[in-house]
Amino acid sequence: MQTSFSLAQLADPNTAEAERVLRACVHCGFCTATCPTYVLLGDELDSPRGRIYLIKDMLEHDRPATADVVKHIDRCLSCLACMTTCPSGVHYMHLVDHARAHIERTYTRPLVDRLLRALLARVLPHNARFRRALAAARLARPFAAAFSAVGLEPVAAMLRLAPARLPQPFAGEGRRLFSPAGPRRGRVALLTGCVGPVLAPSITAAAIRLLTRHGIEVVVADAGCCGSLVHHMGREHEALSAARRQIDAWSAEIEGEGLDAILVTASGCGTTIKDYGFVLRSDRAYAEKAARVSRLAMDVSEYLGALELSPVRGLTGLVVAYHSACSLQHGQKITRVPKELLCKIGFVVKDVAEGHLCCGSAGTYNILQPELARRLRERKVANIQKLAPDVIAAGNIGCMTQIAAGTVIPVVHTVELIDWATGGPAPGALTGRGVADAVGETAAVAM
Ligand code: SF4
Ligand code: SF4
Repeated sequence: MQTSFSLAQLADPNTAEAERVLRACVHCGFCTATCPTYVLLGDELDSPRGRIYLIKDMLEHDRPATADVVKHIDRCLSCLACMTTCPSGVHYMHLVDHARAHIERTYTRPLVDRLLRALLARVLPHNARFRRALAAARLARPFAAAFSAVGLEPVAAMLRLAPARLPQPFAGEGRRLFSPAGPRRGRVALLTGCVGPVLAPSITAAAIRLLTRHGIEVVVADAGCCGSLVHHMGREHEALSAARRQIDAWSAEIEGEGLDAILVTASGCGTTIKDYGFVLRSDRAYAEKAARVSRLAMDVSEYLGALELSPVRGLTGLVVAYHSACSLQHGQKITRVPKELLCKIGFVVKDVAEGHLCCGSAGTYNILQPELARRLRERKVANIQKLAPDVIAAGNIGCMTQIAAGTVIPVVHTVELIDWATGGPAPGALTGRGVADAVGETAAVAM
């Protein structure tokens, strides 16, 4: 695609990168077929190609964002399906990230939208605030329909997504070091993050049990949120501050006892951390350290794929519908490993039709764009239910929450199933629902 940025504009490294991305696009439109918003709305401006044109026009003319541009960019899930489809290697993620930051700087949103975004940015990245907010949301839940009736659909969506009861915090919360059982075979940092420990502490607990049981020392040294949530809202400064905090925390470990890897159980966070090296490339104090952290970052399934796992339970026959999170399949290009791990330890793994399409979670998307998110969830759940699985597995807490809100089939993290099969307890979502109890007898025989 031809572009006409001035030399002065190109002096800004982010604009220079945007130009590089734009020039790679050959307008072929292949990406439209796999874009969830184009599939739902059929509007070119809600396709990757349409958004690329809108962004090009806005950036080239150095214009403040208009309400129309904001509408179409806000509808983008940042699911990155377009990047998987694009034959020209267009790095849409870097382009849309830059566009969102430009929108945040140049556009004044309506008051309610501003307040809601500020609330999400101040609450979600902080464990304690998020826990209190969820407790309040549970009380306000009966009023969701009333909020919806007065046009406050995002507030209603937020209340509906709040779990009916909060799980107990993970027993090891606050502990820094988890020693391996037996001789140490490796040492990793595990990101606990922000919403995960509140919504599903069982994921961190399962990952730590599983890793230490296989001889891996685990250190929890992160500084809270990785910055992903605010990054996707265009709040560049907050996102970069969060990234620098994490890099400082992990660098102390890397330069201390050393780390073989930085493991992430939420693939949305993993995609962001793997990009720290890029977003901080012009920061002299952090560029090198950021690149090092990005090189060490791995999804937990990637790391487990290289370990010799020892299954002890006979879970043969349990049917798992594997939901491939967009940030895992499109953002990190991890598609086979999680399924292979599950198959190897005895689960029957089934692929979900239209697996390339997002479930509608996408960070805060299911709150800020509730209608589109609801339609995507319904489509995803319908495809999953056709498989009649015993359980749904995913590698991202956002997807788990989104899908669980639309089905009675239990939803667990992949790592919880692997932990269970290799000697850990049955995932809480499966106990008392007939699933874990049914295979419990097989397990007892196999042990
Ligand atoms: S990131 Fe997803 S929603 Fe956004 S343009 Fe690409 S495919 Fe469409
Ligand atoms: S598939 Fe790639 S090159 Fe083709 S229009 Fe989409 S982004 Fe551009």
